[in-house]
Amino acid sequence: MEIRQTACPLDCPDACSLDVTVDNGQVVKIDGNSINSYTDGYICAKVRKYPEHVYGKERILKPAIRQGKKGEGEFREASWEEALGLITDRMQEAARTFSGESILPLFYGGSNGYLTQDSADTRLFQRIGASQLLRTVCAAPSGAAAKGLYGKMSGVAFEDYPEAKTIILWGVNPGVSGIHLLPYLNEAQENGAKLVVVDPRAHRLARKADYHLQVRPGTDLALALCMIRWLWTNEMVDHEFLSRHATGADQLFEKCEPWSVGRTADVTGVPEETIETVARLYGESSPALIRCGWGLERNRNGGSAVAAVLALPAVAGKFGVRGGGYTMSNSGAWALDPEKAAGVTGYDPTLGPAPRSINMNKVGQALAFEDSPPIKVVFVYNCNPLAILPRQELVYKGLAREDLFTVVYDQVLTDTARFADVILPATTFLEHREIRRGYGAVPLQEGLPVIEPVGESRPNFQVFNELCHRLGVNREGDAETEEEFVDRLLEQTGRKEDYRQALAKDKIVYPECGVRPVLFQDSYPMTEDRKVHLFPEDLDQEAPRGLYVYQEDPGTTEYPLALISPATGRTISSSLGQLYRDQVGVAMSPKDAGDRGLSNGDTIRLFNDLGEVVTHVEVSDEMPEGVVFLPKGIWCQNTANGRTSNAVSPDTLTDLGAGACYNDARVEVERKAHGLDSGDLGTASSSGTHGSTGPSS
Ligand code: SF4
Repeated sequence: MEIRQTACPLDCPDACSLDVTVDNGQVVKIDGNSINSYTDGYICAKVRKYPEHVYGKERILKPAIRQGKKGEGEFREASWEEALGLITDRMQEAARTFSGESILPLFYGGSNGYLTQDSADTRLFQRIGASQLLRTVCAAPSGAAAKGLYGKMSGVAFEDYPEAKTIILWGVNPGVSGIHLLPYLNEAQENGAKLVVVDPRAHRLARKADYHLQVRPGTDLALALCMIRWLWTNEMVDHEFLSRHATGADQLFEKCEPWSVGRTADVTGVPEETIETVARLYGESSPALIRCGWGLERNRNGGSAVAAVLALPAVAGKFGVRGGGYTMSNSGAWALDPEKAAGVTGYDPTLGPAPRSINMNKVGQALAFEDSPPIKVVFVYNCNPLAILPRQELVYKGLAREDLFTVVYDQVLTDTARFADVILPATTFLEHREIRRGYGAVPLQEGLPVIEPVGESRPNFQVFNELCHRLGVNREGDAETEEEFVDRLLEQTGRKEDYRQALAKDKIVYPECGVRPVLFQDSYPMTEDRKVHLFPEDLDQEAPRGLYVYQEDPGTTEYPLALISPATGRTISSSLGQLYRDQVGVAMSPKDAGDRGLSNGDTIRLFNDLGEVVTHVEVSDEMPEGVVFLPKGIWCQNTANGRTSNAVSPDTLTDLGAGACYNDARVEVERKAHGLDSGDLGTASSSGTHGSTGPSS
């Protein structure tokens, strides 16, 4: 037995450092270690189960080529030579006949490591002139807002949370995502801090809070503007801070004017007295903190909502003290941007923008309606589009096209992989080298392989580099090895040798901005004038009705229920979803269930004009009236008809950043009277057994 060190690169803010116990070349246990002092020796249950992912029956061990009809999941084994040869031929044929734009890379955050995405893959797809994927399903609206107001300023370190007197968790649930914040929240509460949670759902942490503002989905913007207005009318605005460090305050205040407490209570569903109490608490507390998450961005008002929330600490003058300000993404702590850096990926700025960009939220339309030129090859990696993309029926329809050549390069047989023409086996982070940063915790960590690749799996960097050669787009000077790539990446910091040595010795390095900066003392906005821009003109131009302008709820009398799909404690986005085969229910308030004559466990259909999900109902006190919940990241095996919340999710876009509006799904729920119709199963498999994975999971 041997314990080997690495770091978790999965899509999570925390970036745990890990001890992996290896016996006879096999991983037998994964635990945390204290190399990353923030994660300090413990990890989530999700990654504790990771050996089941590495060695499970769904693991792809060899390349494979489709045998039966699309989606039936019948494949024959192939050699890497045959599989890569076929992929090369089909990509060349598509480029020759329809142009490079007919090829679409389809990928997301299955690994947040620098080597596994935005490395040799960027080089390949840019140089063959493929359509560019706009990866906007998460963090695009919040990223646009944070960049517009503060540049890429890092926020308050989680280690400083115990200093705060008031902490607002807004659209984030560290109980299931980013769990290492919990001890700091506990410590803050023990120190006497007040905890405020803004979330439609009364999850465990919300019930532990001093104040829970149970907003109707999509109305966070109204609440944030109302709080700013309240601070303003009650003379709790820090005018001195604003005059020294901010621009655009008057324009922001003008946009807050319509948001009286009474109107805001009507729109958000939060009682007037609670709004006023929390606004006063926030205004009077110092240090006061806002942990802004991503839940509030996934609707038509999402970008403006995040901007208004991030404006609060500037308006109320909460910066300049330890534990005061906000935290959103801390990825700006490392100014490493391999996607744009010529000489790292081989990305070539002289080639200009891609000939065609396709928003990830619209991939269903692009595949199913055959854009012009049609997409003829889709190359899926680090991603399970059938599980995560809106307009799921269109994604199914597109992937079922017999004239579409689909490559799925993954670790396990995902829902999407069943539609592949060629499947390639990918290594997990335990089997390849990786460099990663967190977007909550700030260190950069290196992980070397702790076991040999399982089966014939290969690392992304190697495979995309080989495809560059096969397609004849490699160039002299490209980083051809992982070692060369890491070298070039670190060169961007200007401190390559220091970081190289520190990574070799300690496996971890910290950024120059420091681990625990006091905002507006140790670090300032990364805008040109180093000020907060409370009303960035470009964001005002971008938002369809202007920045901070509320767009009404899309609910109708036919579809009155707001469907939300937050994360749970069992998957990381959709990663690891194959480990759970139980049927997942729709959580609903007792009142809504009663109005529809439903009892716990009844089989229901949740539907709108876009599609339907057949599963059971879980009546839950956690849910407010008018809101239902089906978790993010579930797979087709988790419902009776092989559909997930994305079957009813619209592909409309957020006001900023062209992001996903998952939480704008409006639906109705009714009893499924006669069990499943023969057509209900569609092309997906179903193996549901009744289980409880609803809101308390
Ligand atoms: S998913 Fe997050 S909490 Fe879990 S091990 Fe990875 S970094 Fe840590």
